[in-house]
This record gives sequence, C-alpha cells and structure tokens, in this order.
Amino acid sequence: MAVQQDVAVRAVARVNLAAIERNAARMRRELAAGANAAALCAVVKADGYGHGAIPSARAALAGGATWLAVAAAGEAAQLRAAGLDAPILVMGALSPAELDVALAAGADVVAWDEAFVAAVAARGGGAVHVKLDTGMGRLGTRDPDAATRVAQAAAATEGVRLAGAMTHFATADERGDTFFAEQLARFAAWAPALQAAHPSIVLHAANSAGTLREAASHFDMVRAGVALYGLDPFGEDAAARDLEPALELHSYVAAVKPVAPGESAGYGRRFVAATPTHTATLPIGYGDGVRRALTNNLDVLVRGVRRPLVGTVSMDNITLDVGSPPAAAVGEPAVLIGAQGEERIGVEEIAQRLATINYEVTCGLLARVPRLYHHDGEPA
Ligand SMILES: *Cc1c(COP(=O)(O)O)cnc(C)c1O
Repeated sequence: MAVQQDVAVRAVARVNLAAIERNAARMRRELAAGANAAALCAVVKADGYGHGAIPSARAALAGGATWLAVAAAGEAAQLRAAGLDAPILVMGALSPAELDVALAAGADVVAWDEAFVAAVAARGGGAVHVKLDTGMGRLGTRDPDAATRVAQAAAATEGVRLAGAMTHFATADERGDTFFAEQLARFAAWAPALQAAHPSIVLHAANSAGTLREAASHFDMVRAGVALYGLDPFGEDAAARDLEPALELHSYVAAVKPVAPGESAGYGRRFVAATPTHTATLPIGYGDGVRRALTNNLDVLVRGVRRPLVGTVSMDNITLDVGSPPAAAVGEPAVLIGAQGEERIGVEEIAQRLATINYEVTCGLLARVPRLYHHDGEPA
C-alpha cells in the first residue's frame, strides 16, 4: 500500500502556522484595546518551543505581535539572518562573547548590574532592559534600589539606551497561589516610578499565564510563548481557552505482525502477549523525541482509534497493540500528537504521562523529525 503523502517520511511534525497566527491574535485580544494597549512580544526561544523559531516568529508577527524574544544571543542572530527586523529581546544571561553576538544582531539585552551596562557600552553600545527579581530567584537583582541604579547608569551611559524594565513570574500558572500577586505588587511598586523618570521605557512582566490570568500584569507589553503554540499555559484544556494547538506529530505503520501468547515485543521483553494479537511497528522512537519513559504508557491513533503502545520505546521504533484481526495495515498513518477522525491526543496528555509540562514535550522533539509547515492544510 502506498504511504500517504503526509507520512512520506518516517515521522514528521506538521505545524499549522495559521493556528500560531490566530493564537497571537487571540492573545492580542486579551490586551486592552486602543492607544493604551499592551504590545505582544512573541517568545520563540528553543526553536519556537520545538515548532521552528523563524516560521513561528513570522506567523506571530502576522497575528499582531510586534516584538520577538529569545533566550540566547545565537537565537537572535538566527532571526536576523532570516530577515526578521522586528525588535528582539534576548532575555538570558550573556557571556561577553554572547553579548557581542546579541548586540551585532541589534537585539535588546537584559541588565541587572552596572558592570554589564559598562560592558554593553564598551562593546559598541545597545539597548538594555533592567530586570528586577520580584521572586523568580533566577536572573535580575532582588533590590529595587539597586535596579534603579542600574537603570540610571544605563540612561547616563553614552551609547547605551535604557529601553525597558521587567520582571518574571514564578507561579502565574498555578491556580490558587498568592505569590503571583506579591510579585506583581513588588514590580508595581518599582517600575512605574522608574517610567515616570524615563517615560520612553517599556514595562513588561507577564508570560502567557500571567497575561490570561491578570490584566493588571500587562503593563506596556506581555511576553507570551506557550500560548502562541496553542498549548495551555495552565496545563489544562487549550481549546477551553480558545487556543489552537499548532503542532501534530505523525508517523505511519511500517510493519504489522501476529503475536502469539508468550511472544514479546521490544528490548527487555516489557510486553509479552497474553492472548493472540498483532503489533504495528512505527518508525519513531526516542531518537525523535518520543521519550523512553512512555514505555507501555502511550496511546497512538490509527484509523481514528487509540491503540496502546506496548513494549519498550526504542531509539528508532515503537510498537502498538492493534488487536486481532489487526486494525492496522502497512502504510497507514498514525498520529502521536493531534487529531485523527473523532479522536485527539493533546500534548498535555503526554505531558501528564511523563509528569512534566507541555512545553517540555514539544521542546523535546528532536532534529531528526522534519517540521512540515502549512496554513490550515494548504502548503505554507
Ligand atoms: C520563556 C519566558 C517567557 C514566556 O513564557 P510562556 O510561559 O511560554 O508564555 C516570558 N518571559 C521569560 C523571561 C521567559 O524566560
């Protein structure tokens, strides 16, 4: 049987750029309308959470984002090399060599001490956003007065432009938590006063969860990542929040074989048939990003029906129990993430099986899986 067009390779991640565009527009609608509307900064770090940074950035900009953010200097350089000219914020810590790369890309960088501001000036100058650590405990200074001094140094240093003031929430995605409000209060007690002295700076704090949770966290800009890809920032149901998952992971049935009682499948014989059945082998494994921890713990869609993964996830293959007579034939498509017929498997479901978050599942798709871009099914 001919392999269907969408499974012309062993495994492929199909990314719907129209969904990313609509998710960006949906996040924009969350922001106040009119002249006071906060800007949307699309976070495309880690190769667009596994979706591809460059096409994802273009789609988010088409949906109304006006800024891009990444974690690493090299990621900013990649966006520039692809011709993207939107303002870019590099959010991560930068070694001196990385600072050179970020500044050469014309990206804004994040500062929390005066030595870094001096380094920006010494390395050709650029725009900085001062980071107050209101409780994330990662980057930034915890001391608002110190943050103000860094901002003043940036504003006063030749070749350096004070462009923004920011913080990052630790618990925006946690229901019923009170720490988010504490962090917001700390930022609100510091940043607007700084802006009164430096009116052109952009204040920004909220990630996707913060944006959806609390309008008071929007300030002048929000930095949304996960929601743009249609993943639920709260790990629940993306559709209920009007977000559309952009990525599907497809493979196909490469072999079907009968399994007699007592016969096994895979390394370590972690599946031994109790009754006569059939296995379908799909050419995708942990070398593609299907984590080995999903051994005997995943459903895959074939003919619109959930089929259990049985046996160990190998580097290059997995096996499904497709019953007797076999409800699968060689060449038929299989869906690991996404919809087939009436059934759907969300990234959140896989994240739950792995005791992790949806972000890590898409970030964990490896380079061996080609990304195939489309707009609602039309070639991109
Ligand atoms: C990754 C990141 C974001 C985006 O977070 P999402 O939860 O994906 O919206 C925003 N700000 C900072 C500093 C980040 O590191």
